[in-house]
Order: sequence, then C-alpha cells, then structure tokens
Amino acid sequence: MSKCKGCGAEIIWIKTKAGKSMPCNLEKITIVTEQGETVVGYVPHWATCSKANDFKEKK
Ligand SMILES: [Zn+2]
Repeated sequence: MSKCKGCGAEIIWIKTKAGKSMPCNLEKITIVTEQGETVVGYVPHWATCSKANDFKEKK
C-alpha cells in the first residue's frame, strides 16, 4: 500500500500490460465495455486526484 504524493490518498499500483505501473484508487468499480461485457476494475488515480498535475512528468 502506498499513498499519493499529491493528495495523500491511499493508492494501489497496478501493472499494465505494457509493464508499467499505474497508480489507482483502492475502490473497485464496475464498468461495461462497448462489447457489453461487465468488467470490474480500478480507476486510475490521476483521473480523480485533485493534484493530478503532479503526476505529469516534469520536462
Ligand atoms: Zn492524489
């Protein structure tokens, strides 16, 4: 378990298919795909974080 450096919320790191780690909210949600399949998954934390700008890589 780790915490968001921006807002302090607890987050979970999910490995993507590309092998990268993505910070997600702990709460799982259910979505329906365009194919009509029901899928349970996590919301990327940067989608809801109030400090989402901090996730963007500094140039
Ligand atoms: Zn956050």
